Amino acid sequence: MKNLVILGGGYGGMKILSELLPNNLPTDVMITLVDRVPYHCLKTEYYALAAGTVSDKEVRVDFPEHPQLKVKYAEVIGIDTKEKMVLLKDDDPLIYDDLIIGLGCEDKYHDVPGADQFTYSIQSIEKARETYTALNNLGPGSVVGIVGAGLSGVELASELSESRSDLSIKLFDRGEHILSAFPDRLSQYVEGWFRTHRVEIINNSNITRVEENTLYNHDEPLPCDVIVWTAGIQANKVVQNMGVETDRSGRVVITPRHHLPNDEHIFIVGDCASLPHAPSAQLAEGQAVQISEVLRKRWNGEELPAEFPPIKLKGVLGSLGKKQGFGMMADRAITGRVARLLKSGVLWLYKFHNG
Ligand SMILES: Cc1cc2nc3c(=O)[nH]c(=O)nc-3n(C[C@H](O)[C@H](O)[C@H](O)COP(=O)(O)OP(=O)(O)OC[C@H]3O[C@@H](n4cnc5c(N)ncnc54)[C@H](O)[C@@H]3O)c2cc1C
Repeated sequence: MKNLVILGGGYGGMKILSELLPNNLPTDVMITLVDRVPYHCLKTEYYALAAGTVSDKEVRVDFPEHPQLKVKYAEVIGIDTKEKMVLLKDDDPLIYDDLIIGLGCEDKYHDVPGADQFTYSIQSIEKARETYTALNNLGPGSVVGIVGAGLSGVELASELSESRSDLSIKLFDRGEHILSAFPDRLSQYVEGWFRTHRVEIINNSNITRVEENTLYNHDEPLPCDVIVWTAGIQANKVVQNMGVETDRSGRVVITPRHHLPNDEHIFIVGDCASLPHAPSAQLAEGQAVQISEVLRKRWNGEELPAEFPPIKLKGVLGSLGKKQGFGMMADRAITGRVARLLKSGVLWLYKFHNG
């Protein structure tokens, strides 16, 4: 029996499973999926979990069941590429023939002193739950500082302001305008939404230090009751510690077939992989489809493609509370109710296909 070990049941890991099961797996291959959480988590919805506007159950999807799939609930602490084994906390190592690493990402604090200690996070389900508890226990008039106005910061600030209009929310961003990666029209629309919902945007900010309940913007102290960090991500520490080549965000450099340059049995999927696009669930799924094809062809003794066509990304959609949204579809900016409906539709379809 060959062992295919998949680390992480996120968007990448789940898509690999749906591509290989039930009918594309040879009878002599056994899959072991390892995750520290016993279900697939919908990370794209953590902003709503943290804001308290969806329940925990709504962001969980069961892992599939199959006689050739074993789900192992464990914490991965390292990978020994020489011995071909995965090291687990308080458990025996797992031996692999092929390994797919999809452990996602974590916050990047850009060496800002105190940021890792005194800010909340929405990068893992455990941390999003802690953020939910802190935010939802706040009394009226409390101040919430959100550092970083990319997609996740904007979604969190808007969701929270819509459900807790009694809070004073401050959104700190380095740029002249928020959502700097998007066209001006879109940034202006989102800034307008925040103005009408009394979320204060602090542009051109530079967070130089964080202390308990205090943010320092350009060294100027600002008292906050809760601070949430949404100002950058880096690859999971487990892959950063593998001793392989990585990019500036700790993402692993891979070949066009998505494996390590010097080991064709170790694939990297999703936020852990260095790719020419911003990390996203869509990208992780696109990669997963191609990795599954490489594995299938190898198992069947077929010739492998020298390279794959570029992964097609359908666009980006963001929410502004439950009724409005924004996004880019086919290079066109869309705003308002249609964008929000599309986002809800994408989520519904995802749950329908994976539920
Ligand atoms: C608020 C927010 C909104 C977003 N919105 C969008 C969006 O609209 N569209 C989009 O395409 N992308 C969006 N993203 C990005 C998207 O969520 C990620 O790019 C995607 O989750 C990456 O998938 P992945 O499979 O690499 O990792 P993940 O989905 O993060 O999965 C990683 C898995 O690994 C497990 N794991 C991690 N470390 C360990 C360990 N040491 N041991 C065991 N298990 C471990 C985790 O439990 C998890 O199940 C959003 C992200 C956030 C935070």
